[in-house]
Amino acid sequence: AKDLGKNAYHFYSHDMNRQNTQQFSVQAALRFALERQQLKLVFQPQMNLATGQLSGMECLIRWQHPDMGWISPAEFIPIAEETGMIIPIGHWVLLEACRTAQQWRAAGLLVPKMAVNLSVRQFKPGVLVEQVASVLQETGFPAYLLELEVTESLIMRRINEAVDIMNALKAMGVTLAIDDFGTGYSSLSQLKYLPLDILKIDRSFVEGLPCDHDDMAIAQTIIAMAKKLSLSVVAEGVETAEQMQALHAAGCDTIQGYFYAKPLPAEAMAQMMQRV
Ligand code: C2E
Ligand code: CA
Ligand code: CA
Ligand code: CA
Repeated sequence: AKDLGKNAYHFYSHDMNRQNTQQFSVQAALRFALERQQLKLVFQPQMNLATGQLSGMECLIRWQHPDMGWISPAEFIPIAEETGMIIPIGHWVLLEACRTAQQWRAAGLLVPKMAVNLSVRQFKPGVLVEQVASVLQETGFPAYLLELEVTESLIMRRINEAVDIMNALKAMGVTLAIDDFGTGYSSLSQLKYLPLDILKIDRSFVEGLPCDHDDMAIAQTIIAMAKKLSLSVVAEGVETAEQMQALHAAGCDTIQGYFYAKPLPAEAMAQMMQRV
């Protein structure tokens, strides 16, 4: 498979250090990218550790720029968030992910859960819930197969508002995951106030497994607490068999990472699914 990240263009280069000018031109470029179908989705498979089977996938955005090549979301999502372009882009991601998954279902594939990343700007009262409902209706993709990933900082910033939105999404049947867990400011005890289903352990704690004793202790503690809160645990950035084994032993349910599969274009993702 082609490594989409390798030739990623870096916006923060020496000759482009005038922030405002740069942001403005990137915003214009992003709008153009959205209109001209330069934005693409790739899908990273997740594996259930108990069965060894495909149990879900996360959709990740890519920007295929005609001159600069593949641009990583780590480069343009922060700018899209600052400029507000994340609103139309986020809507497009949700629609495209559900549309693609529903096409797979129509073609007779056994489609597991599809996880979509949400950014803080999308988490708006009176907007997000309505948007998710209309995308599900428009595509016919069932709510129980849609998983939405939110980060801690997003939730903690305005916790009361966030809980209302999350409750409304849950009432629709959507699954909710907390992403990059351990990197923000929330504590495990705050999780009990949130209507979550899944906790994703950040890659930074998976990296050192199983040799780094601190990482091991953190991963084991997060998994044990998550279980007590009845959350399912996904570990991200799993690159080796040793990491997978350590996570399995600690009680982790699901892994995602290069060890199982890299993010794949839609056609390759479809080939990992069984027929109904
Ligand atoms: P994330 O949500 O934490 O996504 C996981 C990132 O880890 C992805 O980077 C994925 O390609 C990478 N990854 C997966 N397995 C491994 C592994 O085994 N080793 C290593 N080193 N990396 C691995 P990616 O695709 O570059 O995305 C970066 C971030 O951009 C995402 O982090 C997410 O925060 C954001 N992002 C991506 N797509 C979207 C989107 O559609 N909407 C929003 N709001 N954010 C997105
Ligand atoms: Ca994510
Ligand atoms: Ca993550
Ligand atoms: Ca991460």
